[in-house]
Amino acid sequence: MTATRSTLTHLSCSRCGENYDANQLMNLCPACAKPLLARYDLPKAAQTLTRASLQGRESSLWRYEEALPIQSQEGQLKLGEGWTPLICAGTLGAEIGCPNTLIKDESRNPTGSFKARGLVMAVGRAYELGVREVAIPSAGNAAGAMSAYAAKAGLSAHVYMPRDAPALFQVECRALAAQVTLVDGLITDCGTKVREKVEQFGWFDVSTLKEPYRIEGKKTMGYEIVEQLGWRLPDVIIYPTGGGTGLVGMWKAFDEMEQMGLIGSERPRMVSVQSSGCAPMVRAFNEGREFAETWQGAHTVADGLRVPAAVGDFLILQALRESGGIAIAVTDAEMLGNAERMGRHTGVFPAPEGAASLAGQIRLLESGWIQSDETVVLFNTCTGLKYAHLWA
Ligand SMILES: *Cc1c(COP(=O)(O)O)cnc(C)c1O
Repeated sequence: MTATRSTLTHLSCSRCGENYDANQLMNLCPACAKPLLARYDLPKAAQTLTRASLQGRESSLWRYEEALPIQSQEGQLKLGEGWTPLICAGTLGAEIGCPNTLIKDESRNPTGSFKARGLVMAVGRAYELGVREVAIPSAGNAAGAMSAYAAKAGLSAHVYMPRDAPALFQVECRALAAQVTLVDGLITDCGTKVREKVEQFGWFDVSTLKEPYRIEGKKTMGYEIVEQLGWRLPDVIIYPTGGGTGLVGMWKAFDEMEQMGLIGSERPRMVSVQSSGCAPMVRAFNEGREFAETWQGAHTVADGLRVPAAVGDFLILQALRESGGIAIAVTDAEMLGNAERMGRHTGVFPAPEGAASLAGQIRLLESGWIQSDETVVLFNTCTGLKYAHLWA
């Protein structure tokens, strides 16, 4: 095994603060059942992870190796993830009255969505710690990404997917050698099934925020945005939020970057966009709650946003509030219309989730919450091709 420059030291609970050895397999905190977060020796990482050293590094998320958990080169299951372009929205920005609008185009990731960033870490770390079989409840993109990295690592993959998920997601997972089980119900019902099987067969559950490393992959979006903006932070980041891994991850990334001296104390305002058919974070944010209640009867064409309950709900709400951000809901019709609008102006054909960020930005420009001279980063989290059936 060839060691990486990872400075991973331990895991700590995001809620109760209890510390754990990072060299053992962990899901939620055994003490309080909340997400565990990876911790690093950041002063040590800062010796080699510098603005200057980054200039010569590979164009992938592995450029931030010191601040990533993977310990061996064999555990870096590289398929070309990360370092996606930050594209100037051009005439789209002009049309909506916000010229400094940028699109972080995550559709370029392996398997076509930003789920690759999280799953390359979760599967890679599980592989390093001796896991042979991984499992996931997923409406689509996470399952595809898990299947890809499990295939790369030679692990068995088990996917539990709602029966009404688009057929192509099943096709993708099966092509990548995963065992796919269709479940009558929502992603939360799939989660229940996975928990049963995990107990029965000793598989490892890589559900979002139920293991510590997916967030570590997703946080690299924060590192990349800042580096791509020439070490400046945008004023606003708009993130289509399901489980919230990326939002919580980026918020963690900015703290790490500050501790390593890469940035100062400045922060963007973080915005969660959800579908009006499934908006638990928006409701909890507006009601001033610390945790979000489960959303009943969730429905939206944006599969990545159809998450009625998130284990990291309090972390999402905390990041929104600490950043001076906001949570808003947009309709499916707004998503579909704005997907075409983004496509027409920018050449990026987004998933409905990506279009949701644009719909959210338009609302926030209208209400005056975003000013026309601000720099706004929108996330396109997946290629529209995976959702082509919605426009067909
Ligand atoms: C999973 C997913 C999301 C939501 O991401 P989280 O980090 O879980 O909030 C958004 N868009 C797409 C396309 C997704 O697959």
